[in-house]
Amino acid sequence: MLNIVIFGAPGSGKGTQSDNIIKEYNLFHISTGDVLRDNIRRGTELGETAKAYMDKGQLIPDELMISILADVLDANREAASEGVIFDGFPRTIPQAEALEAMLQERGTCISAVVGLEVPEDELIERILLRGKLTGRSDDNPETVKNRLAVYHNQTSPLQAFYQEKGLYHAIHGTGKIEDIFADIKSAIDSVK
Ligand code: AMP
Repeated sequence: MLNIVIFGAPGSGKGTQSDNIIKEYNLFHISTGDVLRDNIRRGTELGETAKAYMDKGQLIPDELMISILADVLDANREAASEGVIFDGFPRTIPQAEALEAMLQERGTCISAVVGLEVPEDELIERILLRGKLTGRSDDNPETVKNRLAVYHNQTSPLQAFYQEKGLYHAIHGTGKIEDIFADIKSAIDSVK
């Protein structure tokens, strides 16, 4: 199995590059943000809970997020048999530890963490543009500030966490989408 974590700040291109990775490697894509947005659209209880956090640019509590991820993994065992691309998870050290345990229980592990590195001014520009183009409600100037602060405080420590494990592959996340993907492909092919 090939299990890839795509890692980076909001607006770093995780969703775009996940689409490229799925096509190339036949992996199952789990975007926790998409799972939550789908619940909001369907008006579920989880969606209602999640919306309150997402609108403020805050993270959904770890315990809830970890149980959602376990459910998605278990519901898609067949589709995920060749591996998974984790997009937007983990976002905290406890989530990373839980992911390690979850994969171990299922007889597998993380193959690589692909870290998309993009300067902050470009992140803000991209997020605000996406907000205009898609109408995504948390892509607005107020929430963006919080999301970037949350990224720095709670998520960016994962970079060192995965570097210590020898799993982190730094990718320059600016420039042409296809050039960025070529670098991602080299990183993934080096662990296959
Ligand atoms: P994303 O689409 O990955 O940018 O996620 C959008 C929002 O969903 C985030 O700002 C969080 O509020 C929430 N979210 C997504 N994934 C997670 C996660 N792994 N842990 C906590 N909150 C999450």
